[in-house]
Amino acid sequence: MSRCAIGVGSNLGDRAAHVRAAIRGLRAVSAIVGVSSLYESAPVGGPDQGPYLNAVVLIDTARPPMSLLRDLLLIERARGRTREAKWGPRTLDLDLLLYDRLSLDLPQLTVPHPQIRYRRFVLDPLLEVWPDATMPDGSAIEPAAGAVAEQVLQRLEEEPGGAEPTRT
Ligand code: AMP
Repeated sequence: MSRCAIGVGSNLGDRAAHVRAAIRGLRAVSAIVGVSSLYESAPVGGPDQGPYLNAVVLIDTARPPMSLLRDLLLIERARGRTREAKWGPRTLDLDLLLYDRLSLDLPQLTVPHPQIRYRRFVLDPLLEVWPDATMPDGSAIEPAAGAVAEQVLQRLEEEPGGAEPTRT
């Protein structure tokens, strides 16, 4: 079994329903070990678009990395995800953030996810759910210098499995 962190994001349609569907989809292919709080973040880059709901789900899985990536893409597609504008709005975005202490650089899959240390909406929920997560070289997961200070992120009160989120 390998412990993996999956980043979940949605900023189109019923965002909370997409996040819940992602958790159900992950449960079908792995054991869920932890689910972070829901967070709301301002979009980074891309066209003008609405705010994201974000969470990180921790799983134990027997799937090898590429097989897990295919599962993630299938779960995204089941929620109507299409790829139009780069960094554009999306119903559901699933990222393989960490796969144990594995380091991979394949054409379709880079692990750890290259954006981990540059995105507060990844770092905060990841460290909430997996506080002693490390990079493959054993170093602690910390924000890249100066990268996240300006990023707006709000932790919401509602559990990811619940109904509509309310701000704290
Ligand atoms: P996007 O959903 O637009 O962020 O990009 C998804 C594509 O990024 C997928 O089709 C993957 O082939 C590629 N990719 C590379 N590394 C990762 C990763 N760690 N997690 C998810 N997708 C990845």
